[in-house]
Amino acid sequence: MSPIPLVIIGGGPAGYTAAIYAARAGLHPVLYQGPNPGGQLTITGDVENYPGYRNGITGPAMMEDFQAQAERFGTIVKAGTITKVDFAAYPLELILDSGEKVVAKAVIIAAGASAKWLGLPGEKRLYGRGVSACAICDGFFFKGKTVVVVGGGDTAAEESLYLANLCQQVHLLVRKDHMRASKIMQERVLKNPTIQVWFQTEVKDIIGQETVEAIEVINPEATTRIPAAGLFVAIGHQPNTLPFLPYITVDHQGYIQTNPGTTQTNIPGVFAAGDIQDPHYRQAVTAAGTGCMAALDAERFLQQASRN
Ligand code: NDP
Repeated sequence: MSPIPLVIIGGGPAGYTAAIYAARAGLHPVLYQGPNPGGQLTITGDVENYPGYRNGITGPAMMEDFQAQAERFGTIVKAGTITKVDFAAYPLELILDSGEKVVAKAVIIAAGASAKWLGLPGEKRLYGRGVSACAICDGFFFKGKTVVVVGGGDTAAEESLYLANLCQQVHLLVRKDHMRASKIMQERVLKNPTIQVWFQTEVKDIIGQETVEAIEVINPEATTRIPAAGLFVAIGHQPNTLPFLPYITVDHQGYIQTNPGTTQTNIPGVFAAGDIQDPHYRQAVTAAGTGCMAALDAERFLQQASRN
């Protein structure tokens, strides 16, 4: 089996940007989209802060543009998830969920991050029956109803605002006495009459057998039951590093560590881009930026390897 010059793992902004650069450099990249083609932007609403879209664009439409642009220059985009790797071998070995083995001279890991959960028993049991991590995907089912959102970041703010357009009432639970969300988002949330913000409040229990009926919450004053049909968990993300952990060095939060100012991981020929290596910024535009860096780093690595 002759090795593929460059395999890109992940079909979000980082992966597709890496693909655009690598394809234009003649590296003939193969991109595996992973379990969620398009990445997290496919479960978001309007993207208003990606430069170049002066009127904003929906996340899914933007990712269609990214993919089309990558394919235009010859990227081979494939469905499939990398479940295992052998980075002690060279060429680098990757195993797909289908069981197929792929070998590559260079790899860019751009597998992103996934939603975190609260870890309450009712959460798994009632997932899809009132519990959700995506207002854009599931909000429609709660039209005219009361819902609870958990989290104090931009995602929680965005989800609350989206749900406020559909629901009768939105309760936003923030565990600290302040929100972490950007100022503009906080202001929008706080002045929205449909959203009630509960500070220093956490979920104690999710009440309901077949569907969510109420959320039991606890704060310094009391334990309260909020009757609600839905619980939207928006408490951040964890990097999707599992298949790479035996080989790749990660930081204390589990994000892939790269050499400062580059996308180089601890394994020669393996680069990381996007949310999987970024605990700080986690924006589409920064993911795209590191995708570009990874393609340039991979190109340089392959050039050097071909000289040796
Ligand atoms: P963040 O990590 O920014 O925020 C997570 C929030 O969830 C925090 O308020 C945190 O509380 C809270 N939280 C974490 N664990 C728990 C728990 N167990 N129980 C209750 N609350 C909990 O994640 P986001 O997904 O909101 O945002 C990620 C990044 O994406 C950010 O950089 C954000 O700016 C960006 N983003 C930008 C958007 C935009 O610009 N349109 C839209 C969405 C996201 P605490 O503060 O106490 O730690």
